Amino acid sequence: MGWKGWLCYALEARGAQSFMSVGLRCNYHRDYYLALPPAHPFPMSKYPLLFEKLLSSALLEPADVETPGEVATEDLALVHTRDYLEALTHGTLAPAAQRRLGLPWSERLWRRSRLAVQGTLNAARTAFEHGLAGNLAGGTHHAFADHGEGFCALNDTAVAIRVLQRDRRIRRALVVDLDVHQGNGTAAIFAGDESVFTFSMHGERNFPATKMRSAIDVGLADGIGDDDYLAELDRHLPAILQSFDADIVFYLAGVDVVQGDRYGRLKLTDDGLRRRERAVIELVAAHRRKPLVITIAGGYAATAERTAALHAIVFEEAARYLAMRGSR
Ligand SMILES: [Zn+2]
Repeated sequence: MGWKGWLCYALEARGAQSFMSVGLRCNYHRDYYLALPPAHPFPMSKYPLLFEKLLSSALLEPADVETPGEVATEDLALVHTRDYLEALTHGTLAPAAQRRLGLPWSERLWRRSRLAVQGTLNAARTAFEHGLAGNLAGGTHHAFADHGEGFCALNDTAVAIRVLQRDRRIRRALVVDLDVHQGNGTAAIFAGDESVFTFSMHGERNFPATKMRSAIDVGLADGIGDDDYLAELDRHLPAILQSFDADIVFYLAGVDVVQGDRYGRLKLTDDGLRRRERAVIELVAAHRRKPLVITIAGGYAATAERTAALHAIVFEEAARYLAMRGSR
């Protein structure tokens, strides 16, 4: 039985009311999308396409969608420097900083960046109540405290963790970053901080050229496929979950590991990606059901539609897990 069949089976077992919702809760804002210059390589339309796909497949009910506002500046300032935030606020990034960011500054970019950070923070708060929640954006792990890189202006994961620590909701957080690019900004922000464990599994020869040091970095060779990739994940993630007692887990589910990605260099199949998402969700759940926050991070397939379909897989697996949990 495919996951859809399985999901229907599990829902039937729970009774008719369950058809109202499988309980997948996600943050989304229509302004996650912003128009970029026509030749720009970033697939902005993946955000609305992902949202529409999850709604049309009934994995996500409108009532389970939370619409974030713009994150407060004082929350951003827990991670980002005042100078950087000033430059983002007023559009005064130096040309070199602008190039490094890779997205043209605009009021709308500044707004969408803040909406996406709040989306991850909201998802974290929801995850405490429901075990698991998502943001249909976020995972902007190349953002450092004082600059942006690689299409990432603000580090949503880092801000969410610092806000939850400030509010005494958590002491310790685990970041599981499986985007094909190293989570260099996140690694730098939490360097030397034993309250946050950063795990990054990425293409060793891929961007960024200079890697920062995560708590654990797994640099993968170009061209590896499903079995090798999943074996590496299995070699590390259960042990990390066992040894680091986190109060919450942030999962950056980048899909740029899949074969054919414009920037990826790895060769996972769609099925391999699905196995990865299922493994992460089930492993985290198996360790005292830690709250899990899913953000989408990167994906650059041939079309935005294909990218969105790949991003949908982690939410399909999340819905499957929730249905399975509910039917027990
Ligand atoms: Zn990436």
